[in-house]
Amino acid sequence: MNRVARLLIPDHAPEQALRLKRVLLGGVSYLFTLLLVLAFWWLGYFDGKVVVTYVAIILTVNLGFYLLVRSGLNLRFADPSLTLAQIAISLPTGLYVMYYARDARGVFLLLALSASMYGLFQFRTRDFVILTTVLLGGYAALIVSLMARRPHEINLQIEILQLIALAAALLQFSALGSYIGGLRHKVKEKNQELAKRNVELEQALHRNQELAIRDELTGVFNRRYLMEIISREKQRSDRTGRVFSICIVDVDFFKNVNDTYGHLAGDEVLRTIARTASDAMRQTDYFGRYGGEEFALVLTDTMVEGALITAERVRLRIENLSFPEINAGLKVTVSIGIADSRRNEDTSATFRHADQALYHAKENGRNQCVVAGLRTLDS
Ligand code: GH3
Ligand code: MG
Ligand code: MG
Repeated sequence: MNRVARLLIPDHAPEQALRLKRVLLGGVSYLFTLLLVLAFWWLGYFDGKVVVTYVAIILTVNLGFYLLVRSGLNLRFADPSLTLAQIAISLPTGLYVMYYARDARGVFLLLALSASMYGLFQFRTRDFVILTTVLLGGYAALIVSLMARRPHEINLQIEILQLIALAAALLQFSALGSYIGGLRHKVKEKNQELAKRNVELEQALHRNQELAIRDELTGVFNRRYLMEIISREKQRSDRTGRVFSICIVDVDFFKNVNDTYGHLAGDEVLRTIARTASDAMRQTDYFGRYGGEEFALVLTDTMVEGALITAERVRLRIENLSFPEINAGLKVTVSIGIADSRRNEDTSATFRHADQALYHAKENGRNQCVVAGLRTLDS
């Protein structure tokens, strides 16, 4: 069964596969009508020629639509699902059997109505007008031609009443179709609105996530996020034995900057320092504001020797900064304490070591990097 289905509906784009499925379903509904045609033949309404012709017609129609969709030619039409065409073509095939069905014509008229129902979910008013015209016009033409050829089969009064009933049914289909169309439109609009809202929410979430990890003044990572990174690095280091380094960066005599140029100028200096340090690092390193005028650098997979090189680069770049908008002569320096993670040592110990190194850097004259334990001077 699966193989047959795959043969009939190959791995098309999902919309095309759905259209093929609909064409095949249409074929099944023709089979029901065929059963009825056979019953009429058995009851003596039709002779064999009518049945054979009907089979030939429905084979041609269904094969035609199947090949249209299978080959992709349907995509050239405004409505690639060809619903209106499929329903409209089913009507003359119905009229053909009605022509021979004598006083039982109404049976096939009912089936023609049920074919129109397939359009309920898709048609616009224009499509219903076309459908109504084809069905009413076709049936009226059928009656006229029967009156000319086999007038004894026609009771005009009943036929007119039947036509009116047909028109009334089609009119109601049309109204129902428009109502369903309206609902579909509303659902589509709502879906679009929801999709837009979703994008907005995602953006807001992203903004919030960024805010949660960024320092407000400088835009670099905040203390909380730095701590998160450090604890993550610690876990990784315990697992893999790889070492990471922490550098604490403290601005020298920063109080003087504030006192001389004001707090706002001090803020600007902090922002410039943060930007400069961030630019001096690798993608895999993290730089954040630890508090006040102190920053921290977390260098993954790096021992103190490597960390010292980065720290020196940061220190030098900051030393070379100038602040023409504040004062052409203003120079700012930083002191940096460096320590790396050791096995069996918790992060607060690593921090303490880096802090002690920073203390030594300050003690030894500032504007330098000191590695914990080594008391290396670099200035
Ligand atoms: P040292 O070389 O010993 O580090 O001297 P220092 O003046 O930098 O040290 P201290 O800790 O005495 O002063 C830090 C100053 O940093 C004091 C505080 O006003 C200033 N500060 C802390 N946070 C901010 C901030 O967000 N903006 C500004 N403008 N100043 C800040
Ligand atoms: Mg400080
Ligand atoms: Mg300071």
